[in-house]
Amino acid sequence: MPTRRCAIYVRISVAQEASVSMDRQVEAAEQYAAARGWTVVEVFRDEGVSATHNKPENRAGWRALLESNEKFDAVLVWKIDRLARRVLDFLHADESLQARGAGIVAVEDPVDMTTAQGRAFAQILAVFGEMEAESIRARVKAARTHLLRSGRVVGGTVPYGWKSTPNPDGGGYVLAQDPDRIDHVRGMVDRVLGGASVYSTVQWLDEVGAPTPTGKGDWIYSTVERILRHPVLAGMVPFNPGNTTKARGTDVLRDADGLPVVDESIAIMPVGEWRAMVNSLDERATAQSLPRALRAKTSGLLSGLVYCADCETRMHRGTTQGRPGYSCPSCHQSITNFEHVVVDEFLRQKGERVRWSVIEEVHEGGAALLPEIEHRLDELDDLIRLAPDRQARQTLQAEQGNLLDLRDDKRAETPNVRYVPTRGTQAFGDDWTEAETVERKRAILDDAMERVWVRRGRPGRRTDAQVLARLTFDWKMPDDLGPIEPPSDKDLADWAK
Ligand SMILES: [Zn+2]
Repeated sequence: MPTRRCAIYVRISVAQEASVSMDRQVEAAEQYAAARGWTVVEVFRDEGVSATHNKPENRAGWRALLESNEKFDAVLVWKIDRLARRVLDFLHADESLQARGAGIVAVEDPVDMTTAQGRAFAQILAVFGEMEAESIRARVKAARTHLLRSGRVVGGTVPYGWKSTPNPDGGGYVLAQDPDRIDHVRGMVDRVLGGASVYSTVQWLDEVGAPTPTGKGDWIYSTVERILRHPVLAGMVPFNPGNTTKARGTDVLRDADGLPVVDESIAIMPVGEWRAMVNSLDERATAQSLPRALRAKTSGLLSGLVYCADCETRMHRGTTQGRPGYSCPSCHQSITNFEHVVVDEFLRQKGERVRWSVIEEVHEGGAALLPEIEHRLDELDDLIRLAPDRQARQTLQAEQGNLLDLRDDKRAETPNVRYVPTRGTQAFGDDWTEAETVERKRAILDDAMERVWVRRGRPGRRTDAQVLARLTFDWKMPDDLGPIEPPSDKDLADWAK
């Protein structure tokens, strides 16, 4: 029997897809061919092509294979899903191959279309595979729909700032904002979003006499952090079925597509803003593990912003002849009594400008859902890897399949972005006047300023103008910000509350 000649076909859908890379697919197919003494004549590739949305005959790589002048009897694929995810697509592709006297052979699946028996077996497998995939998808959707129809779920402890109240639309209980406590939660969020530390938020709660969750004792760090991390702040309900461990799960109730169910009537902030706040808490948790000495240094208003223009090095905070200031660790030039000069210049240049970090980018249409879809896809990657058994994995993969389809749909919708201020005062200068703590002022400066460069100056006391002449400012200001819509009357009324 003459040596069999084969082509290799590989495909990946998108760069982020958690699947085997093209090179790995080629390598596996080459090893498969080598083990059988087959000759590989050519490799065909489709990159960035989804199998769900593109039939094989519409892909450049597969068409090139069909039209190739090379002679081959078999086409090696790593798995059948590289070629097609639907039975009809698969059979149709097989038909076109037969027309040129070749058949599909899968490296990882028991599929060999080059023999009559193999063909029959593969067709049966494909039919069952599709039925299984469809039924899993349907089951996942049905379970979610049932959950949603059965009313809003209130499980576990009622979060601080909310209360359990009889469901006006039916039986059971639902969450509602607790008017006695919700403003304290809003205050915590405002402070932390404004750059204040969790510690100073703890102090603030004690100062204003906010009741603690248990109604006794003082506020503590971990309680405040737990409240801020609760998904109910964005109107989401924690939902962790099957979680039998003591640790509280972090998942939330999701709709049939796998996206969080958001009840805007109980939310105090948008989901994206809440996630950003949780991320910033994560980052602060890391910063807190710094040695105390380092922490103390980073608390200054300009700390980390002051650079030596000669050495391009960050200058260190310290005192020179008893005066607080900054000095360059490499050339030892120093500058003192200049903080107010920096602030004056900042207010002169930026005071009237809209503070860009309090502008919300409002994505409308499909783009509005994309961040949440991406977030869930990332989570699913991890969950699939950790799935305890085959069935759990298949359920998660079905959800992933649904979401990938939904993402394609949403990406196809035209993006539409608006910019709206998120609260009443949005000029840098107004925020500065209102800021009471160094931390808040620093957060405002951070939005405006990348760094301040300091050139050498003659020693001795100088006028503000002479100090200013030594400084160069690198401002931050996103140039790509579109037109900003003024706040609506309703927004203004909400802020005035
Ligand atoms: Zn220097």
